[in-house]
Amino acid sequence: MDHFLYRDGELHAEGVAIADIAATVGTPFYVYSTATLTRHYRLFTEALSPLPHLVCFAIKSLSNVAVLKVLGDLGAGMDVVSGGEYMRARAAGVPGDRIVFSGVGKTKPEMRLALEGGIRQFNVESEPELRALSEVCVSMGVRAPITIRVNPDVDAKTHEKIATGKKENKFGIPIDRASAVYAEAAALPGLQVIGIDVHIGSQLTDLAPFEAAYLKVADLTHRLRAEGHTITRLDLGGGLGIPYERSNEAPPLPLDYGALIKRTVGDLGCEIEIEPGRLISGNAGLLVASVIYVKNGEDRDFLILDAAMNDLIRPAMYGAHHDIVPVVEPAAGAAQQPFDVVGPVCETGDTFAKARHLTAQQPGDLVAFRSAGAYGAVMASEYNTRPLIPEILVKDDHFAVIRARPTFDEILGRDTIPYWL
Ligand SMILES: *Cc1c(COP(=O)(O)O)cnc(C)c1O
Repeated sequence: MDHFLYRDGELHAEGVAIADIAATVGTPFYVYSTATLTRHYRLFTEALSPLPHLVCFAIKSLSNVAVLKVLGDLGAGMDVVSGGEYMRARAAGVPGDRIVFSGVGKTKPEMRLALEGGIRQFNVESEPELRALSEVCVSMGVRAPITIRVNPDVDAKTHEKIATGKKENKFGIPIDRASAVYAEAAALPGLQVIGIDVHIGSQLTDLAPFEAAYLKVADLTHRLRAEGHTITRLDLGGGLGIPYERSNEAPPLPLDYGALIKRTVGDLGCEIEIEPGRLISGNAGLLVASVIYVKNGEDRDFLILDAAMNDLIRPAMYGAHHDIVPVVEPAAGAAQQPFDVVGPVCETGDTFAKARHLTAQQPGDLVAFRSAGAYGAVMASEYNTRPLIPEILVKDDHFAVIRARPTFDEILGRDTIPYWL
């Protein structure tokens, strides 16, 4: 569910007309709903109660500091995968003891940054990383709480680029080698082993892979305890999918996911962490664009928008579907025709949708891409020297620009001409 609905024939974000935002900031832009972010976060906390738990928002899905502050103020933890994301979490006022640090390639400077600012735990992904973290901790005279990310060799049945739990993926240590790696971790100075971490992929539309992975984590908890380790925390990752195509998708609900967690690992006496990104942010955002031209091709019509693949890369990168809706509500039963919906970038890959059925469109008309909150703005680039587009946050009948569109001077000012030219 989200808070982007037609009211009086016009698409709104909560109480704000999308057309009013467009008139103020120009298109294209991203707009996020506070009510939707809040609702989705609460669905997870409710699903996990009464287990002791922390819902750590995966910052990589939507990293604007204002959005992080909405969630952080509700009590959310944060899952970061870089020093930059760590800085964003802190800038949003999230205390270090609610920040977990994931990722296969943490550098020593990133480890130091997090240890200086405070960290809930590192999710360590390899033996070389264990040794590096141990060295950093010893040099700083501190001890870092850690979990080790295990790779359960489970097929998440999702897009291959975002499946992370198969043994051929780069993530985590093979679960069969866990005993040896935990023994090494326990022997290294500066590390405090407290738990187990697992994350098998993103946009999972079936609970069965989670169940298979969490049962393996439960087994491993017993095994590691028998080997003398103290396991008090289980980080179960993120990955719950969302319906991108509303007419024919019904992914599992957070409540059912919570019940599955309770059933598989709920009786181990552990504190549970989860790291949802997409399910909190995905349907909390729209990408709004204007029609520049309607171009009649030989065998198809193109809807050329002012948004492009550099603003929303998911269709080009993953073949992803986004529902596209007109901002002015079409009359009931209005005729539709197929369009190839494209952007201005000089690549055929800059295609958002092929043969998408929409009502007739005119230059200047506004359209909205649904489910664009996650992996939208964060993956944007300035390819074709198209400025990064603004981000807007709505709350009730207010809206604010939470990242402004840069000027061309700002963009060009980042380049420097060397002295010999
Ligand atoms: C990407 C990622 C997440 C979030 O995944 P979603 O599908 O957005 O929920 C959580 N944890 C880790 C370690 C990740 O890499």
